Amino acid sequence: MPTTPSPTPPSFSVCVYCGARPGDEPLFAETARQVGQWIGAHGGQLVYGGGSNGLMGIVADATLAAGGRVVGIIPQALVDKEWAHPHCTELHVVDTMHERKRMMAERADAFIALPGGIGTFEEFFEVWTWRQLGYHNKPVGLLNLNGYYDGLLTFLRSVVKHQFMGEWQMDLIAVDDHAPALLEKLVQSAGLQYNVLSDAL
Ligand code: AMP
Repeated sequence: MPTTPSPTPPSFSVCVYCGARPGDEPLFAETARQVGQWIGAHGGQLVYGGGSNGLMGIVADATLAAGGRVVGIIPQALVDKEWAHPHCTELHVVDTMHERKRMMAERADAFIALPGGIGTFEEFFEVWTWRQLGYHNKPVGLLNLNGYYDGLLTFLRSVVKHQFMGEWQMDLIAVDDHAPALLEKLVQSAGLQYNVLSDAL
């Protein structure tokens, strides 16, 4: 049973982008659970795409179970497919994907991409691009779990080598293979404190 979320305002809000599928390795689901537990156990709030499938549903369930708030933002078209998570603390049903991504970005203090597919990539690249253009100054993290993003990182380094991107743009993202370390870094870079409400971790 989910713990009732604390009535006090969350210490921080993290937007999590991740697969609507669970992937092929148990580590993906275990880490998604760890991310949700970390957010809930540190008095935080999850902002995410509002789905119940794959890693998305696992992060949301784990945040709720650890007493955290979950803000799901989902387009009507996905609700119509019955993909919305039924237990979000707040579920916002919006008309378009663009509205969804804008609201997710507004509600979050920091962003983290877990393993996922093209939906995750698109969301991650958008907030990274927005940051380089100065539309926001919120930290953006990439969880390179078990080398999942090694190929992408190699490609991005070749983009720098070919001078289509500067080192400073790479420096706008935090990359780590350890979820709690990356979450700590992102919350601290956002200038926020995290509470330790539970020793569940
Ligand atoms: P993907 O990485 O391709 O699995 O897409 C996951 C990302 O796209 C999530 O962060 C969501 O915001 C969005 N998305 C894709 N599929 C769904 C779904 N079934 N329900 C809710 N959101 C989804």
